[in-house]
Amino acid sequence: MTDRTFCAELTGSFSTSAAQNPTVAIMEAAFADAGLDFRYINCEVPPANLADAVRGAVAMGWRGFNCSIPHKVAVLDHLDELATSAEIIGAVNTVVIDRSGATPRLIGENTDGQGFVASLRPVRDPSGQHVVILGAGGAARAIAVEVALAGALSITIVNRTPERGQAVADLIDTRTSAAGRYLPWTPRLHVPHGTGVLINATSIGFHPNEGDTPDVDMGTVEPGTVVADVVVNPPMTGFLRSAQDHGCTPLDGLGMLVNQALINARLWTGQELSGAVMRHELEEIFQI
Ligand code: NDP
Repeated sequence: MTDRTFCAELTGSFSTSAAQNPTVAIMEAAFADAGLDFRYINCEVPPANLADAVRGAVAMGWRGFNCSIPHKVAVLDHLDELATSAEIIGAVNTVVIDRSGATPRLIGENTDGQGFVASLRPVRDPSGQHVVILGAGGAARAIAVEVALAGALSITIVNRTPERGQAVADLIDTRTSAAGRYLPWTPRLHVPHGTGVLINATSIGFHPNEGDTPDVDMGTVEPGTVVADVVVNPPMTGFLRSAQDHGCTPLDGLGMLVNQALINARLWTGQELSGAVMRHELEEIFQI
């Protein structure tokens, strides 16, 4: 006779391509550390299979799942409810399958930006800050909305493609209490005086292009500014190194990844997992 049970609670990620996503490693390490019988499964799901994948997760009793590229907007068609910031952002990276009622309800959250804000808080309270964001893609949009909701005074969006930059600036201006502005990305960008937080939310500098850095005149960035990068591979990007050399406080993309995973785990398990275990796992993966 045994009291052991053999049916783990399931979570995971739907994306394509899925193979490069390290989230599975940090989630499983943190589940094991907490003694939770939970699994996180990375699933290769092409767009044509998203609806079936969502139905499958509901049918198999999953607690929830992450959506990564290219499903963050398409998944909205399959949800019953959206959290406030996910509704403003217009994209979902985390789905909670709420089974407390007669039928399961799928609730969409966006924890990308929340993870960023959680990683920022220990070094700079976003409240009252003037924030400059390089980029206007999914990561930039999520960060801009969450930093604005956390009380930033202004969000300046700098982007190569003006239409996308203006759209994010307008979103901030109309849907949050922060002032949203678009600034064209001119060569050797001059960062506006008074900027407290500067964020690279583009993919510039991502492996194998780690030699590339965003075209910013670091001389215009005031020492003491928090300079953050969303790029996780390598964690210490050329952009962060030059900011640190200039007397700024660097904030790497691993903090955003870990904090986002902690929030997701809280939503799915109701428990606080170990950020230290997750960070250690990432440092092993990236050999730092
Ligand atoms: P998107 O494709 O949605 O957006 C990419 C953005 O980068 C756009 O604004 C694009 O500008 C800009 N960009 C790309 N290349 C260049 C270039 N050579 N010069 C100027 N601008 C450029 O990507 P995401 O927003 O989803 O992802 C961006 C980065 O964030 C990725 O590296 C991703 O890995 C990282 N990320 C990190 C997370 C973390 O937890 N640390 C979480 C989520 C994402 P344009 O509009 O002109 O094309």
